Amino acid sequence: MQGMSGREENILVLLRLRPLNEKEITVNEVPAWECINETTIFYRNTLREGSTFPSAYTFDRVFRGDCCTKQVYDEGAKEIALSVVGGINSSIFAYGQTSSGKTYTMNGITEYAAADIFDYINRHEERAFVLKFSAIEIYNEIIRDLLSSENTPLRLRDDPERGPILEKLTEETLRDWEHLKELISFCEAQRQVGETYLNDRSSRSHQIIRLTIESSAREFLGKSNSTTLAASVNFVDLAGSERASQALSAGSRLKEGCHINRSLLTLSTVIRKLSKGRQGHINYRDSKLTRILQPSLGGNARTAIICTLSPAQTHVEQTRNTLLFACCAK
Ligand code: ADP
Ligand code: MG
Repeated sequence: MQGMSGREENILVLLRLRPLNEKEITVNEVPAWECINETTIFYRNTLREGSTFPSAYTFDRVFRGDCCTKQVYDEGAKEIALSVVGGINSSIFAYGQTSSGKTYTMNGITEYAAADIFDYINRHEERAFVLKFSAIEIYNEIIRDLLSSENTPLRLRDDPERGPILEKLTEETLRDWEHLKELISFCEAQRQVGETYLNDRSSRSHQIIRLTIESSAREFLGKSNSTTLAASVNFVDLAGSERASQALSAGSRLKEGCHINRSLLTLSTVIRKLSKGRQGHINYRDSKLTRILQPSLGGNARTAIICTLSPAQTHVEQTRNTLLFACCAK
């Protein structure tokens, strides 16, 4: 892939700084970070702190606090999301600490991408398209179907030909964009059910919304010799990145933390290897997240990681952890 910086890249790494929120403004926070151009983010308090951390970081693209999600989509994620209509799998991740804007960013991007996919389908009548929607949550290495009200965990099985398969996963055929919005709201409600018995669940779990597009030439429709093209785009709202670095207390929190740790850490390792274009063994099998996403990572699949950042000085440590992850993914 030819990246925006003009060199060969496997993974597009984007940064999005959110604006200060009302609470932060009330306590007189001033943004500690600033995007000084379209590719560089700068830490403003280096001198004050005398820190040994670098103060400037460069990525494929950085988005300031006043950039809207449409701009992040158009200039960052769109091309990768739409590769699905050409039969190429892709994944778009939101990575960052809790409250940095992952869900805000990913929900918007999913909607814009679906609108563009529908638009494409409507303009290409020579082919018949079916667009399918599915959504899962991975919590404690347990996979839950967000379109099903049953609480039974989904089983992940490896099919020698089709790759990883989630047994009994609900797949809805999308009618239109409004239908997609309905399903996303339904999934949000399903995730919140979890939060009533475990506070803060959404910051501990990963969510994957997958759009699968199948197409065949109309003249062959329904015939045995028809060639169907199928590909998926995955929108991944990751658990809060603080879960990867936090020292954990005892009991069930430890177990929970360990698993999330494992999924995020495995993802970091996989991404790091892929970004180096390394051939050898890649440890997809070490976590559910990477196993499920394997067909949409590496190979000719396309990947974008949107790292979301809080501009607040109080979050500087987590922001640096996110930047370290982003640097490794480049
Ligand atoms: P996360 O999913 O990372 O925990 P959220 O997406 O829920 O964070 O964002 C936390 C809060 O900040 C939400 O109220 C959200 O609406 C707001 N927010 C996040 N990013 C932005 C942004 N770029 N512009 C405006 N508000 C934002
Ligand atoms: Mg969230």
